[in-house]
Amino acid sequence: MSAPSEQDLSAVRTAVREVCAKYGSEYWRGLDKEGAYPDAFVREMTELGWLAALIPQEYGGGGMSLTEASVILEEINRSGGLALAAHAQMYIMGILLRHASEEQKRRYLPDIAAGKLRLQAFAVTEPDAGSETTRIQTTAVRKGDRYVVNGQKVFISRVKQSDLMVLLARTTPYDELDDKTRGLSAFIVDLRDAGERLRVEPIEVMFNHHTNTLFFDDLEVPAENLIGEEGMGFRYIIDSWNAERILIAAEAVGDADWFIERATSYANQRVVFGRPIGANQGVQFPIAQAYAHTRAADLVRYDAAARYDRGESCGAEANMAKLLASEASWEAANVCMNTHGGYGFATEYDVERKFRETRLLITAPVNNNLVLAYLGQHVLGMPRSY
Ligand SMILES: Cc1cc2nc3c(=O)[nH]c(=O)nc-3n(C[C@H](O)[C@H](O)[C@H](O)COP(=O)(O)OP(=O)(O)OC[C@H]3O[C@@H](n4cnc5c(N)ncnc54)[C@H](O)[C@@H]3O)c2cc1C
Repeated sequence: MSAPSEQDLSAVRTAVREVCAKYGSEYWRGLDKEGAYPDAFVREMTELGWLAALIPQEYGGGGMSLTEASVILEEINRSGGLALAAHAQMYIMGILLRHASEEQKRRYLPDIAAGKLRLQAFAVTEPDAGSETTRIQTTAVRKGDRYVVNGQKVFISRVKQSDLMVLLARTTPYDELDDKTRGLSAFIVDLRDAGERLRVEPIEVMFNHHTNTLFFDDLEVPAENLIGEEGMGFRYIIDSWNAERILIAAEAVGDADWFIERATSYANQRVVFGRPIGANQGVQFPIAQAYAHTRAADLVRYDAAARYDRGESCGAEANMAKLLASEASWEAANVCMNTHGGYGFATEYDVERKFRETRLLITAPVNNNLVLAYLGQHVLGMPRSY
């Protein structure tokens, strides 16, 4: 197992780094204070085509590999920014590319690639289902040429910053199903047409993120916006999980490297008891340990991405990459806080901000317990634990 040659990725890395350099720590810190969305950054990244990396060239996108796309998100986080604000377009792309009709692709992808439409929202989670997605209760009932949607979603991010949303809703009642993974369908919802049929209530969370509770009250979605076959939506979403996990792993690696770089630099220049604090093993070794864990996670991430790009199965590797990289970034975050002593708590150092941001990657888009359950059951052959 080896990382791809840095030469192969350096063009993407360097170009994204140049954009990120214009949006320094002060930019992200200011947004964090105001709870504001990084509009200028997302606009520039969109105009330069970086957020359309996974859209094939025939639809006006970058036609890049998942490995390259993951480097884009990694570099945003490594620069001190927050890829989470704009990453969903990449996650969702897998569902559209594999399962949307040619007509749907032609209708949406060129405009998304050109930056005329934003597809940044993905509505799966519900209050009573949590991680058990097959238990979701939001219904989509077919009435002639439309589906009528009723129900509630929670923690649905970037709805107010998006034109389109992919929605998972129930089209067959749970009790009528023999196979509980059927009966859910995926739709493209045009948020610009939703009006009062969709109520969006922001949820304040511990970092600068725009997530919401959604209430659907007879929201009408044209039947032509159904993705693929009715009842197969959960399968389509599972198909997209590997890409999502690899991209999240890359964001976590970017965070971890930011923390390690900041910790190392502070450990070298902060002098207490007459010498740099980094001369103490109690300070130096945890940073070195976090670095080693990050590099190991990074190798698994590249291995998973390469398998994905070759069209091979990569469930085990994608899950392990997400697990190891989110743990490595959380370890690095704590080490960076410890290294900074009291200053880690001062907002001007950005450590506490990045600390709050990176913690999410353990929990969402899938929590690490469910990743372990996947490995235990599907890779190691132990009994299903959930
Ligand atoms: C900031 C933020 C943004 C989000 N954005 C989106 C979004 O855009 N779209 C979307 O659809 N969702 C989104 N989510 C939701 C996220 O995917 C869920 O929070 C996550 O999947 C976990 O679901 P839950 O919170 O209901 O936890 P629960 O399922 O209630 O789990 C709670 C705890 O119990 C543990 N647990 C539960 N069952 C088991 C089991 N069988 N074995 C072991 N442990 C178990 C879990 O690991 C977890 O620690 C977001 C969440 C957050 C916090």
